[in-house]
Amino acid sequence: MTGEVGNNSFLRVEGITKRFGGFTALDKVSVDVVKGERFGLIGPNGSGKTTLINIISGVFRPEAGAIRFRGEDITHIAAHQRNRRGIARSFQIPRPFRSMTVLENLMVGQDFAAGDASLHSRDRAHAILQRMGLGAAANALAGRLSQVELRKMELARAMAAQPQLLVSDEAMAGLSSSEVDEVLDLLLGLSADGITIIMIEHIMHAVMRFSQRVMCLETGKIIALGEPKDVMANPRVQEAYLGA
Ligand code: ADP
Ligand code: MG
Repeated sequence: MTGEVGNNSFLRVEGITKRFGGFTALDKVSVDVVKGERFGLIGPNGSGKTTLINIISGVFRPEAGAIRFRGEDITHIAAHQRNRRGIARSFQIPRPFRSMTVLENLMVGQDFAAGDASLHSRDRAHAILQRMGLGAAANALAGRLSQVELRKMELARAMAAQPQLLVSDEAMAGLSSSEVDEVLDLLLGLSADGITIIMIEHIMHAVMRFSQRVMCLETGKIIALGEPKDVMANPRVQEAYLGA
């Protein structure tokens, strides 16, 4: 899966450069993600992982390069339009509406028509929560959720778009090892359903278990891309993490 893919590739990141003022956060990053793939994205803090996701999902525009999704150049279309085309992401720092229920948090999202509290919409939201292991928490206030429940809710909000590509941005950070396994199993389940997943994560055993390929960024450049065990054994990767 490390080889070239044709023009009909699923997600194609082409020569992406992103600057913030004079600072280059991403420097000519190119990579293809294959349909159905479980793709791990690693790298020390500040290496550009979230910035790349922001470029893919449409939060930022790059200074150079292009993003293609299922053959279409989506570089200049808005985030909500990319979402409608099947790209969804969770945010590294969830910002739930704490005084609303879990179900309401899901239903205020753009994937539910504003004010549409119809039975159909509620059923759909319930089904997503069920799928994400939050069925029993549907009517709980988001402000009362545990850390792992909040992470699942963040992923559930992304899943409301019924995405073909899901990007998870450090959904496991700060969780206990059994909670890490819970989130990992959820993501593996979504993958088994056919969803392509890019997982940004620092917890290496989770990255190893999850990923078919891993890419490591350092200061906005790809320093390794390939099979998980090869990437982990790469001296540049080890140095990047030790130096962090
Ligand atoms: P990672 O997710 O790998 O920890 P980020 O992509 O969040 O890293 O950040 C990469 C670099 O870009 C960091 O140096 C960060 O400070 C900078 N950066 C990210 N977003 C912004 C922004 N909106 N404005 C200015 N600098 C930013
Ligand atoms: Mg980040």
